[in-house]
Amino acid sequence: MKNRIFHPYTPFSAIEKGFPNMVRGEGIYLFDDAGNKYVDIVSSWWACALGHGHPKVVEAIQKQAGVLQHSITGSLTHPGVMELADRLAHLMPTPERHSVFASDGCSAVEAALKVAIQYWYNLDRPEKTWLIGMDQGYHGDSLGALGAGFVDGFHKPFERIVSHPAKLPFPVSSDDDPDGFEPSRKVIEEHADQLAAVIVEPLCLGSAGMKIYSAGYLKQLADCCAANDVLLIIDEVAMGFGRTGKLFAFNHAGIDPDMVCVGKALTAGYMPLSACIVKDEIYNTFSDTPEDHTFYHGNTFAGHPIGCAAALAALDIYEAEDTVERAAEMAEKMKQWMQPMAGMECVAELRFLGMIGVVELKPEMKPLIAAIKQSLFEQGYLFRPLGTMFYLMPPLVISDDELKAAVDALHATIHDVALCK
Ligand code: PLP
Repeated sequence: MKNRIFHPYTPFSAIEKGFPNMVRGEGIYLFDDAGNKYVDIVSSWWACALGHGHPKVVEAIQKQAGVLQHSITGSLTHPGVMELADRLAHLMPTPERHSVFASDGCSAVEAALKVAIQYWYNLDRPEKTWLIGMDQGYHGDSLGALGAGFVDGFHKPFERIVSHPAKLPFPVSSDDDPDGFEPSRKVIEEHADQLAAVIVEPLCLGSAGMKIYSAGYLKQLADCCAANDVLLIIDEVAMGFGRTGKLFAFNHAGIDPDMVCVGKALTAGYMPLSACIVKDEIYNTFSDTPEDHTFYHGNTFAGHPIGCAAALAALDIYEAEDTVERAAEMAEKMKQWMQPMAGMECVAELRFLGMIGVVELKPEMKPLIAAIKQSLFEQGYLFRPLGTMFYLMPPLVISDDELKAAVDALHATIHDVALCK
């Protein structure tokens, strides 16, 4: 059959070479149509925290599909979406919240950005329209998300149509400023009158290459935003639900963000569903009395019943199987197993954040990245390097033995293919 897919993030040259046709998933493995199995070492774009085919999520989806497949949330409701909104509110430091539901991560981000703009409009401060993020931050590929985030390597063709009035520089620590926050403080204080919101990926810029910054920065950012009447949106789409060793990455900083975006692992990757969890102080300004401040924004599949059933099942499993606590323990082991790679001649740096383990190779290794990736693939590992960086971001249910084997395979392959000791 002719391939008629406009593949995302896939160069034509890769399509010509061909790639596996995945027909089944089980645990941490994906199986192709020839019966080969591959370790899903990046959790299917960071979503499948519980691996594939978890019987309880599958059962919840099947059950819901036989009862109510779809019903909208505009002027209607259904039990699943009500329960999920309540569960999400109670996962926040303060539960006085309402959720805007959407489908993908970027549609939750779009909702958050528009809530921020309309919030200031509702308060008669329509001049506060700037939405800024961190340099090289990533919040999805929709145009609104590109206006607040922008990864040069991906988004160059769109440079002319998205404006970035300002950006927070990536934090660089110094003796005087250990969290590297002061340059960001300057940006926020200088533009506070125009700023509607700041949006950041908490603790780790994933798509920019797993660039990690401190919880201290996040705490100072939250305080600075509050002091300057600027909303803080924390984009937990990639980091949420245990990846960093706490339920949410922002929990490391002890903050209570104005809005939190979740997606991906919300349903453990089983259904497309996302949400923006909004504080009631913001939500309450959308009342239609005495003036109409209704939020005229929605997606057809917002709060989709089968998506909600998958999310509720995933949340139950995270709790019942102590997924977050287990992730924190596994993270320590992964760090220990990866540590010997720090001594390799071709390795520039190792970085760790919870169940994310990063091996950044020196820039001169660039010509060998494709060969390392291909060799790992032939051994049954689906790594997706970013630049000269290989990372492990496996399903949180990976076993000790499976994780150790993946670390060893990466180490040995870098050693053998790059002839690097
Ligand atoms: N926000 C962050 C931090 C992400 O990493 C991503 C995707 O990788 C998104 C938003 C966009 O999510 P989606 O691809 O589901 O639109």
